[in-house]
Amino acid sequence: MNHEDLRLWSKRAADWAADYHAGLRDRAVRAPLVPGKIAAQLADTAPELPDPVEAIWADFERIVPDGMTHWQHPRFFAYFPANASPASMLAEQLTNAMACNALIWQTSPAATEIEQKMVAWLAEAVGLPDGFVGTIHDTATTATLSAVLTMRERALDWHGLEDGLAGGPTLRFYASAETHSSVDKAIRVAGIGQRNLVKVPVDDDRAMTGDALQAAIRADRAAGLVPAGVILCAGGTSVGAFDRIGDCIGVAKAEGIPTHVDAAWAGSAMICPEFRELWAGVEGADSIVMNPHKWLGAQFDCSVQFLRDPGPQVRTLGLRPSYLETAGREEIVNFNEWTVPLGRRFRALKLWFTLRAYGLEGLRTRIRNHVAWAIEARDAVAALPGVDIVTEPRLSLFSFALADEAATAALLQRINDDGRIYLTQTRVDGRLAIRVQVGSFDCQREDVMIIAKTIKEMLAQWSTAPSASP
Ligand SMILES: *Cc1c(COP(=O)(O)O)cnc(C)c1O
Repeated sequence: MNHEDLRLWSKRAADWAADYHAGLRDRAVRAPLVPGKIAAQLADTAPELPDPVEAIWADFERIVPDGMTHWQHPRFFAYFPANASPASMLAEQLTNAMACNALIWQTSPAATEIEQKMVAWLAEAVGLPDGFVGTIHDTATTATLSAVLTMRERALDWHGLEDGLAGGPTLRFYASAETHSSVDKAIRVAGIGQRNLVKVPVDDDRAMTGDALQAAIRADRAAGLVPAGVILCAGGTSVGAFDRIGDCIGVAKAEGIPTHVDAAWAGSAMICPEFRELWAGVEGADSIVMNPHKWLGAQFDCSVQFLRDPGPQVRTLGLRPSYLETAGREEIVNFNEWTVPLGRRFRALKLWFTLRAYGLEGLRTRIRNHVAWAIEARDAVAALPGVDIVTEPRLSLFSFALADEAATAALLQRINDDGRIYLTQTRVDGRLAIRVQVGSFDCQREDVMIIAKTIKEMLAQWSTAPSASP
């Protein structure tokens, strides 16, 4: 296959893509779960001689689409979305064609400079004050790891990088139990140790408060431990919990401890001023992560980290060996020095296309619709007999359950086997609950209204089934 073949097949791929998206509503959202079924259809070894593209293409069509969970399906209500606007897909096609590596400015000047601009556009769009800069990572996991490594080194006065952690003080980090597992992972990878991530108790609203944080820090100081960082939850993955961001940042600042805010999902909603109350005080944070790939239409992967001052992070993660120097251009930004990997994709292009193709107002309308439809869906689900709302809508996320845990699990399985919608589970104070979040880029009100209709039908089939169980 050569570049002329690529021209032909790319046109075919564009048609395939358009048909695929137009037909998504006719597909089950989730792939049937039969482990090994896909692998069994592939040859056991790589071919010695070239396969014709026709054959590769035919196998793709035969094997892959039916083996996928369709993340861009308008009735994908599971996890959090990885929503992708058509404009971002177009940008990714161009990025694919250039196949660049944006490791330093010189290797892709446009990628670096558009990335700087997009971070600035987005900082303003979510209401952050002047002065924040930032970078685009693959995922929030990487952004949070970068922030944790930086906080670690600040606490160690940058000795950890040279000397390692052995024999040093016991560093302590603070977060609520509602924070994402990526925070635990960052703490583990950074050599802090899980037991030194203090899970501060939350209040009735599942929020870490300034007082609770203060108490935890005080107890640690009294025990001779060294508080090193606070990680705040702005829109938890389980049920959308928000810590008291402003209060906690106030406590951390008074204690001289840096802060990182995880707004991976909810950050996108902050382009709507009416939701900013939820993270009030965020402008005091040292670092904030949000994923435009979750709810802003800039497809996976696109995770933006805002930094009040990039200096500490660049000092922690930046290395500039002679083979990465750009002669006579010492002042330019080399984004690999802001993050863990050296090689980097050109992720800013899809953000540029998306923000321009819909405008902030177009994106706000989508998010406002999702939130309003989630509230409608909550009311329709609450009206079903035997169904309890476990957590009320937080932005576009709520959860529900049946009285009996086994019945809740069985209901979830029936819903997902039915295929019209896709939901996933969590635990709320130990109780199994089914999460509903609305955020697919193309979803319409009718798609959301199918949630309660499907649940109602599943419950009705159940009560008439001969061996109704459990
Ligand atoms: C999804 C999510 C993450 C992890 O995001 P990745 O980009 O997949 O690493 C972290 N925190 C929260 C709150 C999330 O919702």
